[in-house]
Amino acid sequence: MSALGNIISCKCPNCGDAYVFTNQNPYNLWHLADMHQNCPKCGKSFSKEPGFYFGAMYVSYGLTSGIVIVFSQCLAGVLTLLHCHLLALLQLLF
Ligand SMILES: [Zn+2]
Repeated sequence: MSALGNIISCKCPNCGDAYVFTNQNPYNLWHLADMHQNCPKCGKSFSKEPGFYFGAMYVSYGLTSGIVIVFSQCLAGVLTLLHCHLLALLQLLF
């Protein structure tokens, strides 16, 4: 079976003979995400190697920093405009 077929059927990506999850019943929610540590047929490890998420962490840090900088600059601009309007309104009142 193809790799995509193995992914869809939740089977081992290496051999395609054994299931990745220990429980095949999707209605047993308490054990829905329980996985084998290794493939029962070929022994391939299903755990991620150390540093697997480092790339995602760097990308997430960059995106989050950019979003925070843009949002804070927009907020500062809005508050500056609002402050100028409030000062003008206060000058008209008093
Ligand atoms: Zn396998």
